[in-house]
Amino acid sequence: MSGHFAKPIVQLIRELSRFPGIGEKTATRLAFHILKSPREEALSLANSIIAVKEQIKLCSVCYHITDIDPCAICRDSHRERDIICVVEGPQDVASIEKTGEFKGRYHVLHGVLSPMDGVGPDDLRIDSLVKRVVDGDVKEVIVATNPKVEGETTALYIARLLKPFDVKVTRLAQGLPMGGELEYFDEATISKALEGRRVI
Ligand SMILES: [Zn+2]
Repeated sequence: MSGHFAKPIVQLIRELSRFPGIGEKTATRLAFHILKSPREEALSLANSIIAVKEQIKLCSVCYHITDIDPCAICRDSHRERDIICVVEGPQDVASIEKTGEFKGRYHVLHGVLSPMDGVGPDDLRIDSLVKRVVDGDVKEVIVATNPKVEGETTALYIARLLKPFDVKVTRLAQGLPMGGELEYFDEATISKALEGRRVI
């Protein structure tokens, strides 16, 4: 269908169809929305995309995405240094921050162990987590990976790695719907799971 349109529109539709969950139909609708929108709005969208690619990097401490290194959470002196919450991705930091319950710091793995997909410990930020625990005065590591098989495997792997060190490793409470993802749980559910965390 997009073949009937002028080249720049076809190109935009093609780019937009690459987004997750966006088919050609939706991409076409979005492309025409951009075409009709005021010039400043469209340019602001384009500039935001460029800014994300050029300014966003990973925090050298916790690997959360940030434009200033270390990130705002790691720089915040009011946050507890002795408790680290381990999450799969940057969106999970946002989900836990929304609850307002957690006052420690984070460690973003950027994935989970998944032998089927060829993801091993070296592909994740696990070494740096161990280093943080060894170097710092960390009392507790909460593993808040998603309640899925890979998330559980990753949690147990981390617990085993940290066993020799004087640190409590905990997991979010059971009761989170198995197979779910943190970023889709509401704040109350995450708060309860944090509160009821257990040692693994
Ligand atoms: Zn950080």
